Amino acid sequence: MSSSQKSPQTQLMKSEPKWNEVWMGALVPEPGNSVLNLTGTWRVFRPVMDVEKCVRCLICWSYCPEPAIRIVDKPYRTKQGREYKFTLEIDYDHCKGCGICAQECPVKAIQMVEEVR
Ligand code: SF4
Ligand code: SF4
Repeated sequence: MSSSQKSPQTQLMKSEPKWNEVWMGALVPEPGNSVLNLTGTWRVFRPVMDVEKCVRCLICWSYCPEPAIRIVDKPYRTKQGREYKFTLEIDYDHCKGCGICAQECPVKAIQMVEEVR
């Protein structure tokens, strides 16, 4: 290639807009649309909650970054007779399997198990 010829990369760079000509990116046109992002699809491990062991402290709920732990208005009585006014459920459509909930649970009521699809 002679010095007067431009490489394909240089030609491509010349055809690209300058920084102040680039259209603003990363706009969210509809607030709240993150619910459509099914982050559970890239999960490698899934949290499995033992509702019998869970003491409803809500630490997992407050730490979950998605949030993918739901408070369900469903009373629950454990086999040992503890009564709770609500139950917790994991939203597997949005849980990305980070394991924070399992790490933070004070009674180890959440286990991370390998995801099977
Ligand atoms: S694994 Fe992570 S994303 Fe899933 S429920 Fe636990 S804290 Fe939330
Ligand atoms: S952190 Fe553990 S005990 Fe507390 S609500 Fe979550 S699963 Fe239940």
